[in-house]
Amino acid sequence: MICRTIPEKQGALVAGGNAIRGSRVGAGPMGEAERGEAAPRNRIPFWCANRHETRVAFASDADVPELWDCPRCGLPAGQDQQNPPPAPRTEPYKTHLAYVRERRSDADGDALLEEALTRLHRRRGA
Ligand SMILES: [Zn+2]
Repeated sequence: MICRTIPEKQGALVAGGNAIRGSRVGAGPMGEAERGEAAPRNRIPFWCANRHETRVAFASDADVPELWDCPRCGLPAGQDQQNPPPAPRTEPYKTHLAYVRERRSDADGDALLEEALTRLHRRRGA
């Protein structure tokens, strides 16, 4: 018995709250939000480099970010479907010197190989 009276009281409180809120909203020029079904929202689509579409609902007065992390693959997603933001490089960061060293060692390696092959050919040719 007690259990039943409590929800009734709560319901009455909620109804009263709606009535108050409704009168406030009704004062606005549109009067459409009277039902209290959420403030106006914009659903902004974002696309990532993998062409996943993500629609994010923002309040109409909220600042929409330029990028949104794709919830499916984690890549940054932008609002331009044709030009989604490029995927960030997954390679570990290398310094410029590291790149130079890499290139040089490759070149050195090629030169050494060439030299070795030349020697080998000379030996065989002789
Ligand atoms: Zn994605």
